[in-house]
Amino acid sequence: MLKILANDGIHADGKAMLENAGIEVDTMKIPQEELMDKLNDYDGIIVRSATKVRADLIDACPNLKVIARGGVGLDNIDVQHASEKGIPVYNTPAASSNSVAELALGHMMNLSRFLHQSNRSMPTSGTTDFKVLKKSFGGGVELAGKTLGIIGLGRIGQEMARIALALRMKVLPVDPMVKEANINIEMYSSDEVGLSIKLKSVTMEKMLAEADYLTIHVPFSGGKPIIGSEEIAQMKKGSFIINTSRGGAVDEDALFEALQSGHIAGAGLDVFVNEPTPDERLLKMDNISLSPHIGAATHEAQRNIGIELAEKLIDFLLE
Ligand code: NAD
Repeated sequence: MLKILANDGIHADGKAMLENAGIEVDTMKIPQEELMDKLNDYDGIIVRSATKVRADLIDACPNLKVIARGGVGLDNIDVQHASEKGIPVYNTPAASSNSVAELALGHMMNLSRFLHQSNRSMPTSGTTDFKVLKKSFGGGVELAGKTLGIIGLGRIGQEMARIALALRMKVLPVDPMVKEANINIEMYSSDEVGLSIKLKSVTMEKMLAEADYLTIHVPFSGGKPIIGSEEIAQMKKGSFIINTSRGGAVDEDALFEALQSGHIAGAGLDVFVNEPTPDERLLKMDNISLSPHIGAATHEAQRNIGIELAEKLIDFLLE
């Protein structure tokens, strides 16, 4: 019987699909240092970001036929080495796009109405200083009619655009590879006619100059930040920056300074340099809406990931 190790887990629906296809799924977590001895008992391994599948592990497991990664980034897998050995590596790039885009929207809404701050203040002084808080957290802004700059018009960027257009925002995407994209906005009931809106990429300069909100949806694995002090200086005073891509895509020092000076009114961060011990200075700022890298952590995304992986593994192992 074919056997798969889901070392970082798999959604129950994906597990059931594999089992119904006659593939045994082991969800017991084997510590990284023991995989060298134990992974060879399996035909395939499913990981998320925690388990590393490096060249030495691949070499130690000649029975391994397939590697699958739930999610997008493949930095924990030696993909090149696996493909040299004829082992395919599958991932699920689209499964969590809407979840990440909705989280970015959540941060935008928090910042626009001070929800991140009032959620901190109401429990401590909501009964004693209600009127003071009401005054402090008044003066919010609507998203409708504002301009959203989107860096990266790929899977998540397009989901973000779909949501923003439905909220009646103006969308300015920047993507050197995707010059234009048709964004389809389906209505909830499938009987209703949806809308299709063609978005064209604009220059970084135009987007920076016009955006009220800027959200980043590009891959980033180090090097020069996509948004640093030069780019921030080109943005409007009082604009907002959201980063749900990777820590470092926005220069944290430059962001800190811009938030302190008020040039940037607020930031929404799901990702940080130095995770899992991010810079405390940022965590303690009033004008940041925070989340601990949970962009893809929804039931829907996890289910999509499990099902997509199961389909790919069944196709590969049984077809
Ligand atoms: P994607 O590959 O579909 O799209 C990325 C787009 O960015 C591409 O169209 C590419 O042309 C564009 N791009 C690359 N460099 C650029 C640059 N310098 N300027 C402008 N555009 C640029 O990727 P995706 O599925 O949309 O995911 C985007 C990123 O989101 C991932 O790489 C990942 O780092 C991040 N992500 C985060 C979470 C989370 O939990 N917060 C979850 C999933 C993905």
